[in-house]
Amino acid sequence: MRYQRIPIPEDEGGVRAADFEEILHAYSKEEAILEAQRCLQCAMPFCVQACPITQDCRGYISLIAQEKFNEAALLTVQDNPLATVLCKTCYHYCEEDCVMGGKGTPIAIRHLKRAALEFGNGQVMYVPSAPKNQRIAVIGGGPAGIMAAWELCLRGYSVTIYEAQPFMGGQVETIPKYHLTGDELDWDLGRLRNLDLTFVTGKRAGVDFTPESLLQEGYLAVYVAIGASAPRILGIPGEHLPGVFAALPFLLAMNKGPEGLFGRKERQVVVVGAGDVAFDAARSSLRIAKGGQVTVIYRKGREDMPAGEDETTESEGEGLRFIFHRSPVRILGTGQVEGIVVQSTGAGPPDARGRPTVVLLPGTEETIPCDTVIVAAGEIGNVADLPKELDFKLGPQPWPEGKKPDWMTDVEGVFASGGQSVVYAMAAGTRTAEAIDAYVAKKTGRSPAPRPDPFARPIRAQLPEGYGGPTWHL
Ligand SMILES: Cc1cc2nc3c(=O)[nH]c(=O)nc-3n(C[C@H](O)[C@H](O)[C@H](O)COP(=O)(O)OP(=O)(O)OC[C@H]3O[C@@H](n4cnc5c(N)ncnc54)[C@H](O)[C@@H]3O)c2cc1C
Ligand code: SF4
Ligand code: SF4
Repeated sequence: MRYQRIPIPEDEGGVRAADFEEILHAYSKEEAILEAQRCLQCAMPFCVQACPITQDCRGYISLIAQEKFNEAALLTVQDNPLATVLCKTCYHYCEEDCVMGGKGTPIAIRHLKRAALEFGNGQVMYVPSAPKNQRIAVIGGGPAGIMAAWELCLRGYSVTIYEAQPFMGGQVETIPKYHLTGDELDWDLGRLRNLDLTFVTGKRAGVDFTPESLLQEGYLAVYVAIGASAPRILGIPGEHLPGVFAALPFLLAMNKGPEGLFGRKERQVVVVGAGDVAFDAARSSLRIAKGGQVTVIYRKGREDMPAGEDETTESEGEGLRFIFHRSPVRILGTGQVEGIVVQSTGAGPPDARGRPTVVLLPGTEETIPCDTVIVAAGEIGNVADLPKELDFKLGPQPWPEGKKPDWMTDVEGVFASGGQSVVYAMAAGTRTAEAIDAYVAKKTGRSPAPRPDPFARPIRAQLPEGYGGPTWHL
């Protein structure tokens, strides 16, 4: 029994901070097989249970262990239309619950998904069911919208996705290239080509149309999947100076043009915040700050940083500077950022929900000289232009959601949901698509349909003898 994971090949800190080349490299075939053979093939696979889309990871691991990469790739894309994106970006919730983690390191489930797709042929077209001649509109081309469209198209609906940006993918398009090279989404969308699915880009709900106008055009239901892409501001003086950027547009510009928003030259950058997006902004700045310095300031301590372990561990050795227990007070400059004034923080009383808070300590102001400030204070759904009658729930989660149990809004036929990560947004897309199917089925006097086989063939015939298929479904 091998308790420790076959190491995932990765570049050293100093090397990887030099450019935007991918940091993690694929397993070789041999490494993938050895890693897959560590899996216990649990009768009750907690890994599958922990995956928000119940990806049959136990199944593809079993197939890789048997050196059946084509079958593993097929099984991977069977329940996951964004498998290529997820094999590099998923926060691998499955691995947290893998029983091997109790004795050693969990199976590298996400990285084995990548091995399945690198060495097997997963580029198989999805096949729709017989057309229903019923149209559904999706607003927002991020993971939630794409997943819902896939679910609905497989059931025979005709789906149109309306997207405000000139490209599909939503926030996936802001993920830095050292994580995601930029081709992965195209690979995934390529598998959708035979479905009755239309992408309309460059059209914004609330400006070019409304959910209600889509219903009037004949769509039977509308799914609002617009995520949380409006940056929150700090609300401090100097925030509108040239040289202050919000993290999301900064990262988007970085991916869409080689120089990003501030060009590749020596810079003194301060990033405010310590979540995953802040780390992406800081590590991306580091790669173009050309001998300058990138400082992350955070109002709590190192142990409180909301960023996941992947980001904090990977960034070690890259050269980021951290200043903890400081909160920004104002940004200085005349015509251009010249510094940021921060104040020390201490523990405050718990808030209404019992969570620890911080307070500013008087007389502790200090100035950090810098020429660029990137604000990564979180994001919120941009609902300002959308009709008030929808009355979205914008609660602890920042994306708009319908208030009814099936995510329907106050306007009949209009649904809304989203998620905190790519795979959680996809899970929301699945649940909402099921609710839409149930709603349309009721209206048209038929029963809602479960997701059909995406390849319209008897699934088991494709799998090797001895593999029984998924045994655990939530
Ligand atoms: C920098 C960054 C890095 C991230 N890294 C990871 C990661 O490594 N792993 C991970 O799992 N998650 C990551 N996430 C989170 C993940 O990307 C999101 O949770 C996920 O994309 C949410 O999906 P969604 O479909 O709900 O919303 P979004 O992805 O935000 O998609 C919503 C879409 O709706 C469009 N839209 C908005 N308003 C309108 C309108 N009025 N009309 C028409 N279209 C509209 C937007 O342009 C967007 O394309 C990251 C997020 C960011 C910002
Ligand atoms: S999609 Fe994510 S959580 Fe699900 S099996 Fe793959 S890596 Fe794990
Ligand atoms: S929990 Fe871990 S060991 Fe068990 S089937 Fe899943 S990946 Fe394999």
